[in-house]
Amino acid sequence: MKSEDDPRSENGWSRREFGQILAGLGVATGTAFGGWGILELVRPKGRATSWRKSVCRFCGVGCGVRLGLNNGVITEVRGDEEAHNKGVICIKGAMLGALPSLIGRALKPKIRKAGKLVEATWEEAMSLVANRFSDSIREFGPDSVAFYGSGQLYSEETYTANKLFKAGIGTNNVDGNPRLCMASAAVGYVQTFGNDEPPGALEDIDHAHCFFIIGANPYECHPSIFERIMQRKRSHPNTVLICVDPRRTSTADRCDLHLPLKPGTDLLLLNAMMHVIVEDRLYDRDFIDEHVRFSDGEDTVDFQALESFLRDYTPEDISPRVGLSAEIVRRTAHLFARSKGTVSLWTMGINQRVQGVHLNNTINSLHLVTGQICRPGATPLSLTGQANACGGVRDTGGLAHLLPAGRVVANEKHRREVEELWGVPRGTISPTPGLDAVNLFRAMEDGRVRATLVMCTNPAQSLPAAGRYRKAMERCFLVVAEAFEDSETARFADVLLPAALWVEKEGVFGQTDRRYQLVEKVLDPPGEARSDLEILVDLAIRLRHGDLITARTPETVWDEWRKFSETSAYNFKGITYDRLQKNRGLQWPCPNESHPGTVRRYVGGDDPLVSSGKRIEFYGQPDRRAVVYLRRYQESPEQTDDEFPFILTTGRVLEQWHTATITGRIPELQMASGPARFEFNDQDAQRMDIQDGTRLEVRSRYGTVEGAAVVTGRPRKGTIFAAFYDTKLLLNIAVADNYDAVSKQPEYKITAVSVRKTGGQ
Ligand code: SF4
Repeated sequence: MKSEDDPRSENGWSRREFGQILAGLGVATGTAFGGWGILELVRPKGRATSWRKSVCRFCGVGCGVRLGLNNGVITEVRGDEEAHNKGVICIKGAMLGALPSLIGRALKPKIRKAGKLVEATWEEAMSLVANRFSDSIREFGPDSVAFYGSGQLYSEETYTANKLFKAGIGTNNVDGNPRLCMASAAVGYVQTFGNDEPPGALEDIDHAHCFFIIGANPYECHPSIFERIMQRKRSHPNTVLICVDPRRTSTADRCDLHLPLKPGTDLLLLNAMMHVIVEDRLYDRDFIDEHVRFSDGEDTVDFQALESFLRDYTPEDISPRVGLSAEIVRRTAHLFARSKGTVSLWTMGINQRVQGVHLNNTINSLHLVTGQICRPGATPLSLTGQANACGGVRDTGGLAHLLPAGRVVANEKHRREVEELWGVPRGTISPTPGLDAVNLFRAMEDGRVRATLVMCTNPAQSLPAAGRYRKAMERCFLVVAEAFEDSETARFADVLLPAALWVEKEGVFGQTDRRYQLVEKVLDPPGEARSDLEILVDLAIRLRHGDLITARTPETVWDEWRKFSETSAYNFKGITYDRLQKNRGLQWPCPNESHPGTVRRYVGGDDPLVSSGKRIEFYGQPDRRAVVYLRRYQESPEQTDDEFPFILTTGRVLEQWHTATITGRIPELQMASGPARFEFNDQDAQRMDIQDGTRLEVRSRYGTVEGAAVVTGRPRKGTIFAAFYDTKLLLNIAVADNYDAVSKQPEYKITAVSVRKTGGQ
């Protein structure tokens, strides 16, 4: 019963219970260990009459959860002991019980009339969408339309959208928010190993002796992974944790070594570490001789070329530019190379950079040169931001330059293979790569793209230079399939299609370490909301591509995709719905239904694609050797000057996820995070007379935002940090949209800004 003293939220949590949770997290902070499992102690229990397994979608870990149900309501949430998160979930996952009662759900289709969205039938909405797409294609060609998707769609949904647009409509304008979070990691793996996705697995955390965490804050952004790291530290106290981050994050607080480098100088640091490794002979000569090739980016070079390249990167020379002592650089290199097993973990701080691919290459290279790879506890392992960016987008080829299963649009042989597999005539797939995220919205701006379907994502808030691209959306016929009618992007919709949440439909997610999990439908979608797959099938039929999109249920699409994948190195043939229902995830390659899945790739006896008798084989490369690239450091185009003297970096907080479209509606999480604020170093704050709550205008070359300050001392002097979840701040309006030349991933992490006090607290 609700009372004034103990106001319960819609999902049954009281402030008191929530206070207990926060206290639990506080204990975790105080002991310098993770403590997410402590949520188990305070979670309400005993009301469920049945239990279903599911997956949390609030970060790329994709924790297995068990949902307790009573009369169609989620009454309890527990971490799934049998899943890869071993029962641990964080505060966001613990709040999944709020899903059925979220406010603002889109319940009926809406069409914009006289500037306002008004209710319509599905028939009216979909025939308008089909007519506008058909008109645009007929008048301006297939490249005048686009699909902008998400790492939160199911694999079956992205696969279907990709097939419809690339093989049906005839445009490669298929991109999405994974371009914004992990495109550089994907290209980095492909360049180094010949195939995308990590060689190692989360299991390596349980065997590592050294963790090199760079450009990531897993304590807040991948909590169950960080708890696994801390479990390793607790059981093996000599395990060393190194954190490289310009900001003293909650992760850095718990590490043995924090390297607070100047923003944007990571490649100087990584090359200097390589310098030390070569100079002090910390490399693994046998591993290099057997498995590695060196390249300057164009030609194969020898080890001497590497030595000569590294002369420009002595720790002493780079020290003032990076803002770290030569001694700490040398120490870090020794810890990395000499440990019995080093796991590197990184995410947006490395990927969201104009040299994101080169940074990824160089992290992979450090592992290859030292032989810290392809054995338990030794691997480079990029962390992803979304629950299905790996499986649903990278693997199914749901980006503008890709085709499914590791193929690329620009390769004629790859196009022919895909055309054959999809049963369409030769020449159907355009040889021109489509528009990546930033350039897609620029094409809306100048009228090259006239109609776009946005599905399960919120670009009006998540794109960099968002002010510019919000205006671009006004110029395009925008169809938004979205669960909430008031998301920032829904405001720009010409047609709003009510979409089901992931627990209201069925499908497969693929996470960080090539792990696929089936998510079963647990709840009915509210109102007239439909699954994104249903929407795509309807659109395909209306655009006269029903004979191409013949698989129309999640399982039949999955079976088509499994069959498609079996001729490639991305082999999911053995990962059936039936097996996924019984298991808590399977890792590919998995070529048949009796194969247990592959934990460590490129390792004989584990990876089925390694040639018989080989201990390690990088089969993705023609010569079966992984490539160590010599990558020169270049400064970011964003530099401070008299007008813009600060560097703004962006990120997330523990209690909110992405643009907070869902988590921002959960009162307890909103209460815990509060509004996003501009975090300052003490010295900068003192110099500018800024206190907690001081109102500020933060201006960049891209836009201006206003918000309040908080003085934490965590960012480096001259650096400001803010999180992008808050719709009241809309931080990305001020963020730079420079991008990596190859991956096309924008550099969110570095924007030069000015700060002006606007008065008041
Ligand atoms: S937010 Fe991430 S770490 Fe937290 S429960 Fe969900 S999947 Fe797990």
